[in-house]
Amino acid sequence: MRDFSQDHRWLSINTATVRRQRGKDWPLLDILDACAERGIRAVAPWRDQVAASGLSATAAKLKAHGLELSGYCRGGMFTYTDAASRQAVRDDNRRALDEACTLGAPCLVLVVGGLPGALAGKAAHRDIAAAREQVNEGIAALLHDARERAMPLAIEPLHPMYAADRACINTLEQALDVCDLLDPQRSGALGVAVDVYHVWWDPKLLAMIERAGRERLLAFHVCDWLTPTTDLLEDRGMMGDGVIDIPRIRAAVEAQGFAGYSEVEIFSSRNWWQRDGAEVLDTCTQRHRRCV
Ligand code: ZN
Repeated sequence: MRDFSQDHRWLSINTATVRRQRGKDWPLLDILDACAERGIRAVAPWRDQVAASGLSATAAKLKAHGLELSGYCRGGMFTYTDAASRQAVRDDNRRALDEACTLGAPCLVLVVGGLPGALAGKAAHRDIAAAREQVNEGIAALLHDARERAMPLAIEPLHPMYAADRACINTLEQALDVCDLLDPQRSGALGVAVDVYHVWWDPKLLAMIERAGRERLLAFHVCDWLTPTTDLLEDRGMMGDGVIDIPRIRAAVEAQGFAGYSEVEIFSSRNWWQRDGAEVLDTCTQRHRRCV
């Protein structure tokens, strides 16, 4: 396993970690400056942040700083209720792929969607099996577009508490089943994003990391699971503040040959988003050395 204790060359910042500090959006271009100032070499921006700052301005800033991406957040949300929404999803995901290409991302991260309408508070039905069928179909179609652009897709399984509204792929095993179904040749075009927040509890985690292997391990996200957790979405912990054995999971991922960035992704409306962005980035750097 790589030694992270001496430097932070393998640290990436998911820019949602510092998206809104003390009630004010921190513009993406300023986040990129602050990362570069600290010798952080990679980021994973979100589409809404890129849209707010402009795609070409973002690409230019990344280039000026020599910043790499560890992923692009995000595509997916494949479930739909009618032909029009199905087409809209496909078109939007194609745009996400094009943006990922412009920014030089190594992969487009997919949050696959739950029951249609549930995220807005009104699920269209209760058939999660049907939702999962639509997800398979959506990924299959997008995989075609992704291959044309040579942009890998990384399915991110989300913790089961999000099954209704955000992602009905909830374990690494499920995600790998989809990979095996749609990309049996293990071409590298389809894989997974392992986010410790979502998968740390899974008794099959280590076995599934082994099953994934190098070709399917496209991204590695870190934060921590707090006890108690007070919000389903926006109470992620800083590495070292919770109960996840992050080094153990990283060791398993690296044993398969993963040698990419550890991407810090923390949504924390009451703690880290209430602090100065510089303090958050400095803390990420320190904890990356000590706790990842
Ligand atoms: Zn993640």
